[in-house]
Amino acid sequence: MDKIKNIVIGGAWPYANSDLHLGHIAGLISGDVLARYHRQRGNNVVYVSGTDCHGTPITERAKKEKKTPKEIAEYYDNRDRETLKKFNFSYDLYTNTDTDFHRKETMNMFKKMYENGYIYEKIEPQAYCEHCHKFLSDREIKIVCPKCGTETKADQCDGCQYVPTVEDTKDGICLECGSKTVLRDNKNLYLALSKFQKEIEEHTKKSNTIWRINAKNETDKYLKQGLVDRAVTRDLDWGVDIPLPNYEDKKMYVWIDAVLGYVTATKKWCEDHNKNWEEYWKEGNNNLIYMVHGKDNIVFHSIIFNALLLAMKEDYHLVDVIVSSEYLNINDEKISKSKGNGIPAIELVDKYQSDSLRFHLINNGPEKKDSNFTIDSLIATNNGELLNKFGNLVNRTLKFKGIDELPKGILDEQVKSKIEETYDKVADAIEHLEFKEASDIAMQLVEYANKYYDDKQPWVQKKENIEDFNNTIYTCSVIIANLANIFEPFMPDASSKIRVYLGLNEPNWEFIKPKENIKLENIEPLFTRID
Ligand SMILES: [Zn+2]
Ligand SMILES: [Zn+2]
Repeated sequence: MDKIKNIVIGGAWPYANSDLHLGHIAGLISGDVLARYHRQRGNNVVYVSGTDCHGTPITERAKKEKKTPKEIAEYYDNRDRETLKKFNFSYDLYTNTDTDFHRKETMNMFKKMYENGYIYEKIEPQAYCEHCHKFLSDREIKIVCPKCGTETKADQCDGCQYVPTVEDTKDGICLECGSKTVLRDNKNLYLALSKFQKEIEEHTKKSNTIWRINAKNETDKYLKQGLVDRAVTRDLDWGVDIPLPNYEDKKMYVWIDAVLGYVTATKKWCEDHNKNWEEYWKEGNNNLIYMVHGKDNIVFHSIIFNALLLAMKEDYHLVDVIVSSEYLNINDEKISKSKGNGIPAIELVDKYQSDSLRFHLINNGPEKKDSNFTIDSLIATNNGELLNKFGNLVNRTLKFKGIDELPKGILDEQVKSKIEETYDKVADAIEHLEFKEASDIAMQLVEYANKYYDDKQPWVQKKENIEDFNNTIYTCSVIIANLANIFEPFMPDASSKIRVYLGLNEPNWEFIKPKENIKLENIEPLFTRID
């Protein structure tokens, strides 16, 4: 037996400004597969996430809807929790960034980085509105692009993608009041990211062996350009306070408190469960840290988060594995707000089985390249694969006419080897982040079982040789019992039904047998046909 690992799995924190759509779920589901799998292996797992309540997308939405940012954040936090629950995400703690605990812990960590000299003050000119009496962020200013002449927000030109400089924001227009902007000296705190260039380079080289190619490329690109210090404060009234004097009118940049949330959430969960959070986050505990998110979030986790951990100088273990998915398209279109094609995931999971959606998104998801979702493809997976193959195997084995108790039989040794081989192969694929392949290998055991059943012809055996019949049904039920383990990371509902049917204990990752003489009652189909 391998030494027990202490594993953190961090699922990306959804922004509390809109409903989760299927693309979010497709990106996050890998985290749940990893969490369930590692628990089955007997590792200590803490799987955390939460709703990101801060940041300008939320304040902008609040302004538009004439609500407070808190009201907006609370509404979407509740929606996210409901959605993730219906998809059976097994977070140990799903929290949000608006809790007192998170604020307090984040401020403490920020203070440590400042005391260690990795956060420093810098004074520089910034766009200011004399009418609104405030400094403006790039998104709050309208300018005429100096490159192409397009009228655009100052974060990036809509016409030519040019990123305006501070000078370009002089004589812009304040989007709130329409006044002309001026440049004025403003002070902000900066993270000395450049000081961590070497350490992060070395860590990346050592740990990126199983990362997805997009994570390797994106991280290498930033490291090659050379890491640049980044502002960590901004002029907002919604967010985590800065724990230093003379910064009362500023808040932390949202990306800093969001990534530190993985640590604060672990602390909170450990506090509530009498565990030591340092075993998960500090060096020397056989640690393994995964971060699961979409491709637009890679460097926040592979570079910035690691730099923050290093800046505390407290022997933190750095992020080991970046699990970064590509994008999911819907009906061959990119999901976008303007197209309105990002169907809320909660609507789909209310209509279709959570297991079917989960399996489909894992088996056809945006693992290494963008993938496409259509209702027809979901139906093909549900009816063709899950119902016709897996559901049918369970049904025709455990609901055989005239049999109401699992017969005693002898297990076919060849089948046993096939099952054990499947455990190893699925485990290997999951540990290499090949979730699609893992789900394919699991389905191959279903196909193998169906072929075994057809070859043995139990409906003939039952009339001609009852012992042969018993052996066939018993052997197939052993396969089904093990499928409950093997499919647990992908389809927890189906697995839990089988555990009841066959009297099985909690899922693990080793060869198991059904409970002897178990009554075969109330066997329901695992999947419902979609028409
Ligand atoms: Zn103004
Ligand atoms: Zn332009």
